Amino acid sequence: MNIAKLIAQRSTPFCSVEFFPPRDEAQWEPFLEEARRICELKPLFASVTYGAGGSRQDSTLDMVIRLKKTFQLEIMAHLTCVAASEQRITDFITQLQAAGVDNVLALRGDPPHDGAVDWTHSPFLHASDLVRFVRARFPHMGIGVAGYPAPHPESPSFSSDWRHTVGKIREGADFVVTQMFFDVREYFSFVERLHELGVDVPVIPGIMTIQNFESLRRILSMCGANIPGKLYLEMEAAHERGGAEAVREVGTRYAVEQIRRLLDGGAPGIHLYTLNKSALCLRIAREAGLL
Ligand SMILES: Cc1cc2nc3c(=O)[nH]c(=O)nc-3n(C[C@H](O)[C@H](O)[C@H](O)COP(=O)(O)OP(=O)(O)OC[C@H]3O[C@@H](n4cnc5c(N)ncnc54)[C@H](O)[C@@H]3O)c2cc1C
Repeated sequence: MNIAKLIAQRSTPFCSVEFFPPRDEAQWEPFLEEARRICELKPLFASVTYGAGGSRQDSTLDMVIRLKKTFQLEIMAHLTCVAASEQRITDFITQLQAAGVDNVLALRGDPPHDGAVDWTHSPFLHASDLVRFVRARFPHMGIGVAGYPAPHPESPSFSSDWRHTVGKIREGADFVVTQMFFDVREYFSFVERLHELGVDVPVIPGIMTIQNFESLRRILSMCGANIPGKLYLEMEAAHERGGAEAVREVGTRYAVEQIRRLLDGGAPGIHLYTLNKSALCLRIAREAGLL
């Protein structure tokens, strides 16, 4: 079912979970065991990333089909369109539909850095082009898009990013899943701006738990999210006091607090970037009152 409709039917906050496909075959069984435990959260849906972090794009489809069959979950497949042909997009969604998958997260993706592919002549320059294409060819598909509480790093301004998010909704997207963020005020202000611009679709906040300094650095350098100074200082102090384990503890507690504040402030639910780690997810959900 379309995820926006599922959300509309809920009277209590939900969680959804995001998986990334393991890189090689040997990791599939351990992954499925982690996924089985994560499903104890009874997620409203599970999403599967596409070609992110070096995974093969075929693995997305394999995993989507496997998760659907094994756990009978509502699944959302991520799909990037940068440098893609219309045929490849059509084939991918046709296969999703054949597997009973009703939702896709329509993304642009990141253009290849090495310049090996000239994507500037692609029919899809922005996620909005993908949304328009999917909406026209597959009218019954649920379509989600990415949203950025702190603007996307390529955006010249907040307002330009808000306008483009609205553009994706106008092209036919049904809901928004946000990039990770660490200051809940950024989420509420983003939702408010979208309302002011006439958009009223569900905006699901994406929650990433910082597990170490390396991931913190990656976040700061790549995705444009801001780290509150207080959190950074707390992590630094924890690192000096108790090393990696203490940093992980601060990150986990921070995620729990963030979820509580989001739900308390009226967010419809949360989208948990699971890192494919069940113990972490179950702890967070339990402490945040989602289990
Ligand atoms: C929830 C979530 C899940 C993700 N999952 C994946 C994944 O599975 N695989 C992966 O590779 N990446 C993933 N990403 C990362 C994403 O691909 C990158 O952030 C990418 O750089 C932008 O994708 P987008 O869909 O937001 O692009 P767009 O919406 O196209 O936006 C990109 C930039 O262009 C601007 N823009 C948008 N539309 C227009 C327009 N019509 N005209 C001019 N400018 C415009 C925007 O303001 C922004 O600055 C994910 C991101 C999020 C938030």
